[in-house]
Amino acid sequence: MPHLYKGFSSLAIHAGHVKDPMYAHLTPIYASSTYVYDEAEQGMRRFSGKEPGYIYARWGNPTMNESEQKIAAMETFGIEVDGKPLEAKAILHASGMAAISSLFLATLKRGDKILTHYSLYSGTQDFMKTLLDPLDVEAIIVDLRDLSLAEKCLREDPTIKLVYLETPANPTLQCVDLEALSQMAKQYGKLTACDNTFATPYLQQPFQFGIDFVIHSTTKFLNGHGTAIGGVLVGTDLAFMNTRATKTHRLLGGNSNAFDAFLLTNGMRTLEVRMQRHCENAMKVAEFLDAHPAISKVNYNGLPTHPDYAVSQKQMKHPGAMMSFELEGGFDAGVQFMNKLQMCTRTVSLGTCDTLLSHPASMSHSSVPRENRLEYGITDGLIRLSVGIENIEDILADFEQALQSRGVEGVEGV
Ligand SMILES: *Cc1c(COP(=O)(O)O)cnc(C)c1O
Repeated sequence: MPHLYKGFSSLAIHAGHVKDPMYAHLTPIYASSTYVYDEAEQGMRRFSGKEPGYIYARWGNPTMNESEQKIAAMETFGIEVDGKPLEAKAILHASGMAAISSLFLATLKRGDKILTHYSLYSGTQDFMKTLLDPLDVEAIIVDLRDLSLAEKCLREDPTIKLVYLETPANPTLQCVDLEALSQMAKQYGKLTACDNTFATPYLQQPFQFGIDFVIHSTTKFLNGHGTAIGGVLVGTDLAFMNTRATKTHRLLGGNSNAFDAFLLTNGMRTLEVRMQRHCENAMKVAEFLDAHPAISKVNYNGLPTHPDYAVSQKQMKHPGAMMSFELEGGFDAGVQFMNKLQMCTRTVSLGTCDTLLSHPASMSHSSVPRENRLEYGITDGLIRLSVGIENIEDILADFEQALQSRGVEGVEGV
């Protein structure tokens, strides 16, 4: 399948589609919890796997299957291993967190450790602390941008089983080197996983660098319209994906559903054109913010001043549409800026058509003690931004007026 299409959009639009028996153009929302048999023997054949076919919607259904096939095709697009197109299997989940839970429970057991880095998605970090720690699965958190430190951890601790990466990561857009870490992990016989939510397979394909598992919160850029929560676990070890990973997904019960999968599939069909516009706008926004006197710092991996610029250039087609910036005036300036926005949207989350801004200190991280917040780079005046696909002149005009009205030298309303 992967070599059927020369371009990413053709694949994103067509891959995974199965002609509908009723000739519907788009795969319908198969709202059925169970599937029927012509005779008892057929049920037996289906359960034993001798005959393909759907059985029960927690295990899968045609609408979800199309999303899964599309994601697997996008994550392996153009990648060859030993002269053959790389194959992957994707398992759709109810949310990004459900996919991450499946990954951890399918790959780890008591006494195993995870090697990971700072700045993970807060839910992932919380999962490790709240749910894995009591099961005696410990996370070692270090700065994995330091490759000699990563090597030392892998060499010295044989109980590390999984190297868990997220790049670019929230909110400072830190990037870790997928190729170097994947090679190192292989050398020591460890599994690797990458949360590819911020990048999407259009900008970054972790499998190209030998990563074993890719996770997405499909809620974000893949869906692209903010209409459904979803997640996916993708792997290239098909035997593992078809047995242990499938079993874990079925037993945990974090399945997706036909309606959300329908929305996801249709969102993904426009991924390439959306991402191109997201990225083009993001670069202009970053340059605008970087030059603005009211802003002390811009965290965007596409600016040559970002510490991980080189890594990002090496492994991503484009640095993406996520960034954060710091306002000169701290907490109050952050709140004021957010309140002055007229077109852009005040909310958490990311990856929708509209430009989304959040002020972590007063919103997502307001319950985190200030010292801890600062440790993670979440300063008082930090604003996180998901650049949308509106016309760039409107985004910049909204920012300009919101920044101006912050006032100069304490003068309000300038
Ligand atoms: C949102 C997000 C998640 C969690 O996904 P849900 O769909 O909200 O469960 C995980 N990782 C990253 C990077 C995210 O942005």
